[in-house]
Amino acid sequence: MKAQNLSERDKKHLWHPLTQHKTAAAPLGIAKAAGAVFWDEEGNEYIDGIASWYTAMYGHCNEYITNAISAQMKQLDFVIFSGFTHEPAVQLSERLVKLLPDNQEKIFFNDNGSTAVEAGIKMALQYYHNKGEKRDTLIAFEDGFHGDTFGAMSASGISSYNGPFNDFLLNVKRIPTPKEDTIEEVLVQLESILQNHKCAAFIFEPLVQGAAGMKFHSVKGLDALIKKCQEHNILCIADEIMTGFGKTGKNFASEYLENKPDIICLSKALTAGIFPLSITSCCKAVFDAFLSDEVHKGFFHAHTFSAHPLGCAAALAGLDLLESPEILERRTYIKNAHEHFVNEIKGHLKVGNARCMGIIMAIDLKIEMERYGNLRDELYRFLMDRGVILRPLGNTIYVLPPYVITNNQLHEIYDVITELLETF
Ligand SMILES: *Cc1c(COP(=O)(O)O)cnc(C)c1O
Repeated sequence: MKAQNLSERDKKHLWHPLTQHKTAAAPLGIAKAAGAVFWDEEGNEYIDGIASWYTAMYGHCNEYITNAISAQMKQLDFVIFSGFTHEPAVQLSERLVKLLPDNQEKIFFNDNGSTAVEAGIKMALQYYHNKGEKRDTLIAFEDGFHGDTFGAMSASGISSYNGPFNDFLLNVKRIPTPKEDTIEEVLVQLESILQNHKCAAFIFEPLVQGAAGMKFHSVKGLDALIKKCQEHNILCIADEIMTGFGKTGKNFASEYLENKPDIICLSKALTAGIFPLSITSCCKAVFDAFLSDEVHKGFFHAHTFSAHPLGCAAALAGLDLLESPEILERRTYIKNAHEHFVNEIKGHLKVGNARCMGIIMAIDLKIEMERYGNLRDELYRFLMDRGVILRPLGNTIYVLPPYVITNNQLHEIYDVITELLETF
């Protein structure tokens, strides 16, 4: 009997994320990865054009990172973070606080993006609770995405994910993202929410909404919204889980802002895409609101694997690379190449809005389609058949490559996109 391949064996017991198993194609068995490339079981090559959901920025199986994890594993594999601490966590806090916006002082660990957001929301709610104030409403952008746990889902505005749970979510009031010419309008909407509700926090993806289809908004507009919220003593939570670690051109999108968020959520590229780990950082005022002789005013939120030493070791190695001359050169090359390509295809009949920022490039196709519809799947197949992994978000195709992608690989992606524009 012929041995079954991974896709066939997978079918028997596995349930995949974001998948309608009745109609979805079988998942592809991946056997190996290096740099910006995956190989399937049959040895076919695929370029990872989205850095595995914006995580593997220094490339897959990067030896500098894997060696750091391996060394840490032999020294101290794991210890719980309640009542204990360790070198990689301490060092990571020291280095990150230096790199993050000036007001960030304290680092709280979780183990994925959603729970980093969850902790940020809980910090904001308890911040007011500890001060004897009940504030029961959050403010968030339409079309935002913040994760799949209940608090994070509540903050998310993309309804295709949340339908069955809508009756069970936190109170959230939504505002549109500001464009250069709608800033005043959005401020008026915010003002009216502030007057009619007891708001605890404003949570947002700064400058780029990832899951919404790499939608950009105005720096000036976001700055004005944060300013208004902070004037009303409302905590601002920047979800930098996608934007963090260099994607927008600066290390953090918040660096473009004059008004700094009170709380910042980090994950994904934090550990160079190798290990699930996340951080919720905050300013001193937030941390101080939990200091008390009353035990229950502390932040009683924990996940077993918080501050995992292997994740921290990966994160430290990632920070070494982030601003290394080699990676800085790549960051600049990709940014320039994106700008060039966007200019080139901007006038194409099937291209609506084409845009880029840092190493993020996105094109809205002038083709009607559903977020998870058949045509979207056809586009996906078309790209995969040509050895390029991109995941169209509705009619948006975006490229967010690992920094280590080679020039040839990057231009191969552009060529396949150009071919797609000619085909559909
Ligand atoms: C991916 C993502 C999350 C959720 O992170 P998970 O690790 O998948 O739970 C939250 N916010 C943003 C902006 C993200 O891109």
